[in-house]
Amino acid sequence: MIELKNVNMNFRGNQTLKDINLTIEQGEIMVIIGPSGSGKSTLLRMIIGLLKPTSGEVWVNNREITQMPEDELNKIRLEMGMVFQYSALFDSMTVGENVAFGLRQHSDMPEEEIWRTVRRKLRMVGLRGKENAMPNELSGGMKKRVSLARAIAIDPHIVLYDEPTAGLDPIMSNTIDRLIVSTRRMIRATSVVVTHDMSSAFSIADRIAMIYGGSIIEIGTPDVIKQSENPIVAKFIRGATA
Ligand code: ADP
Ligand code: MG
Repeated sequence: MIELKNVNMNFRGNQTLKDINLTIEQGEIMVIIGPSGSGKSTLLRMIIGLLKPTSGEVWVNNREITQMPEDELNKIRLEMGMVFQYSALFDSMTVGENVAFGLRQHSDMPEEEIWRTVRRKLRMVGLRGKENAMPNELSGGMKKRVSLARAIAIDPHIVLYDEPTAGLDPIMSNTIDRLIVSTRRMIRATSVVVTHDMSSAFSIADRIAMIYGGSIIEIGTPDVIKQSENPIVAKFIRGATA
């Protein structure tokens, strides 16, 4: 479903990602962990085509996207939804308009059907009846859920999450984790979740990849990661869990 082949990314001479090879299977929840600044967000932005690697290939749904013209890339993006680290809602639009945004951009769906879809997606994230609220009336956790409803509005095949539980209390984090898992089930989406939260990583992941200094230093099931003999992985897991 998603494949990165020998991907390198340099920012002004600094090598942020080094020779990344990663295959993410259809329907899988792949969790990416690693210290701050290790290149996790860069990796996500590459998968959704917001960044082009300095070298290497990014394949999405059996198509190589790095050399794709913008209009074709836009079509590929229709198959993806992204929950950004800072919810990134449009503050001047209602919750409903925020969720409708992608639907309006990417389809000629009639207005009535747009609102049916908006209400259904808001119900899925536990925000029934909130379509007329303004984002600034909502808590951080609710904003995050609006952002999730917006990401899944177009029924994407792939959902990318950048630190979806950052700044949330444990109960809300847990709610978001369960939504990630139920979203995968309901729309059968392949999910890539960047998180700093180990309990979240271990509870939702099919596989976990740890990035360190721009390289994947360990990858496997939660059990494999827990039992990793790589001292950097072991130390990171202990530190981040404590
Ligand atoms: P993470 O999400 O793991 O915290 P990032 O992917 O955001 O890490 O960043 C990895 C490194 O790449 C950091 O050192 C960051 O400063 C650098 N970086 C990220 N994006 C840019 C950019 N657009 N321009 C220059 N440097 C960047
Ligand atoms: Mg980041």
